[in-house]
Amino acid sequence: MYDIGEKPGKGTYQDAYGHRVTLDQDSDALPPCPSCGPGQNTKWSRIW
Ligand SMILES: [Zn+2]
Repeated sequence: MYDIGEKPGKGTYQDAYGHRVTLDQDSDALPPCPSCGPGQNTKWSRIW
């Protein structure tokens, strides 16, 4: 799993609640979950 701010590369990532974000560039950093909010210690898992 990846933390907010990591740059694991292009792909789609999902948190423990099924919320997803997509990184379009290898230089993009994982954001806070837009649904859970920036105060959460979101862990992202690559799904695509
Ligand atoms: Zn979330």
